[in-house]
Amino acid sequence: MAAPRYSSTTLAEDVRSDSTFRIPLIDFAAYKQATSLAEKRCIADDIVNGFKEVGFVYLTGNVIAPETVNSVFQKASIRILKASAEFFQLPEETKARLAWDDPKANRGYVQVGRERVTTSQDAAEIAALRAKAPDTKETMEIGRDNHPNFSNKWPQETEAPEFKETMLHFFQTCHEVHTMVMRSIALGLDLPEDFFDEKIDRQDHNLRLLSYPPIRTSLLLGDDQARAGAHTDYGTLTLLFQDSIGGLEVQNPHTKHYQPASPIPGTIVVNAGDLLARWSNDVFRSTLHRVVAPPAIKVNDTEGMTPARQSIAFFCNPNFDAIIESLPSCTSTSNPSKYPPLTTEQYIVGRLAATYS
Ligand code: CA
Repeated sequence: MAAPRYSSTTLAEDVRSDSTFRIPLIDFAAYKQATSLAEKRCIADDIVNGFKEVGFVYLTGNVIAPETVNSVFQKASIRILKASAEFFQLPEETKARLAWDDPKANRGYVQVGRERVTTSQDAAEIAALRAKAPDTKETMEIGRDNHPNFSNKWPQETEAPEFKETMLHFFQTCHEVHTMVMRSIALGLDLPEDFFDEKIDRQDHNLRLLSYPPIRTSLLLGDDQARAGAHTDYGTLTLLFQDSIGGLEVQNPHTKHYQPASPIPGTIVVNAGDLLARWSNDVFRSTLHRVVAPPAIKVNDTEGMTPARQSIAFFCNPNFDAIIESLPSCTSTSNPSKYPPLTTEQYIVGRLAATYS
């Protein structure tokens, strides 16, 4: 849970007990509006401290558009979540035409669990399988639109008016947030503020729209109860835009117990991924997290209904040809680099090969 930024104890003290564990809430507007390096450094230190101790931060403030107030994240979240919800309401045939079909491209529509139930021809078997392994989420993957080899799978403008435009605008906005947060990280790690700029400017990111349909509670019981199992993310940072339903849980790295990361209106959740942890020679944490079903709404004495949930994850990556080598300020003679240099592409392809083998 987030707590007010100013408290009498430090983050490092708080997170060592589950009862006081918190994900720091950081006003990033103050970074953007700072007029001196010292002011910026203050926010940068909070961000770096958050990624060192927890691996997660909530960012609030006027990050996305300079002209408006604190509700910018809220407005952007509502707009993008609405466009996403409209997409998932398109007819099955339309979405099927946009199906994800290539891990290298990693673009298109995925209905999780679908393959498992459609390979069978037997109706009773299908019903049994569906009860055991229900379709608990749908996703739509969008990459950078100007990629030389891979094209995004867009619905036609008549099918989903303004969907492409909304998503491309949001993609650009998230890219800019990534650039700014990485600048603050550079400062907080005693590097020049523009240290990462030319290594992260190609937009090799991945925008994922997620829709978790409403589901009867009885279908969520058992081992597959979690809507997304515990995992870490691959890249530098993940920006997560949640609706008010929630369900994200973060492992307290100090006690290993999961804690809810409740939605806070007007904020985005930002976590460090494995590649950033590696880049920082493990100064930063890439923390395990999962999505669990939110509390059910009772429909009768024996059945509950878990509400639908929408979220948007923006997975940020350095340029695919950028060399990821332990940051100079994160190594010393007593703390040498733990990892050999490699490119982003070598790292990501290695991770994907492990997933799909
Ligand atoms: Ca994640």
